Amino acid sequence: YAAKRDKEPFTVYTHEDDIERRQQLRLAQDLPEAVASNQLVLHYQPIVRIDDQEVIGVEALVRWQHPKHGLLFPDSFIPLAEGSGSIEALTEWVLQDAISQASLWRAAGDRISVSVNISALILHNPAFPQMVARLLETTSFPAHLLKLEITESAIISDVNRATEIVTQLHDMGVCLSIDDFGTGYTSLAYLRKLPVDEIKIDKSFVMNMSHVADDEVIVRTLLDLAKNLGLSVVAEGVEDAETWRMLEDLGCDVAQGYFMSRPIDVEAFKDWIVTQPWKQELK
Ligand code: C2E
Ligand code: MG
Ligand code: MG
Ligand code: MG
Repeated sequence: YAAKRDKEPFTVYTHEDDIERRQQLRLAQDLPEAVASNQLVLHYQPIVRIDDQEVIGVEALVRWQHPKHGLLFPDSFIPLAEGSGSIEALTEWVLQDAISQASLWRAAGDRISVSVNISALILHNPAFPQMVARLLETTSFPAHLLKLEITESAIISDVNRATEIVTQLHDMGVCLSIDDFGTGYTSLAYLRKLPVDEIKIDKSFVMNMSHVADDEVIVRTLLDLAKNLGLSVVAEGVEDAETWRMLEDLGCDVAQGYFMSRPIDVEAFKDWIVTQPWKQELK
């Protein structure tokens, strides 16, 4: 929020700004307690292979069930966690919960990968690979089914250190994915410096590609780029059957979006995986 405001030439501080800043501060102060007392909850969104419509994975997306403010979405508290030193504890909680859940699904016979979003800030922590290794060990979850999605929410200030940490994770067999690909200006640099396995084309391009010609060109070009570099591709933000079919024609491997399902809690996912109502719309 602050970053958006910085771009404006003049800033007039109002009483409302003050109130809002105080609210943000309080939310940030509540975060450690929220992590410790299980106020965080993960919702899961399916990731589907296009050619055979198989569910091959899920993305874990964190929510905060706040005792006063209700269900909060990550955009309202992840930046606060990054700025207040809670992001490490939050990330550990998310990884632990997502890997345990994925292990349960695996035990029930579903061989699906689990994708977890990692703030770029975490890539400065030399203890991070060990933490991931420990979680994989205690759950016996296969490393190649864990995907870490790296976003540009925070700038990588020490690229060499981050590269070292990411390389360690890659050597462990963990899959690395560049999230929101095409929006951040270091997206391309990441591809050259980091051992990347997958890119996720940002939803802002995919969402409107069926009626905005330039967006279709961008998606097609990104698919080409990924193919030429030997990377897997996920198209995010698939909202309708038409977009699904276009992606199919363009040879895109994998899709994610509201068309198949919104992010849903574990209970709802249990039903969804059996019924998969979205398939009706492709008939
Ligand atoms: P993301 O990783 O790019 O996740 C995709 C976001 O797009 C999710 O929003 C999801 O609900 C939404 N989305 C999925 N399909 C569609 C679609 O078809 N149309 C549209 N319009 N939107 C769609 P959400 O859950 O609010 O998460 C927002 C962002 O918060 C995530 O973007 C991710 O960057 C961040 N985030 C979420 N969980 C975590 C976490 O555990 N740790 C960190 N560091 N960041 C997280
Ligand atoms: Mg993501
Ligand atoms: Mg994204
Ligand atoms: Mg995002």
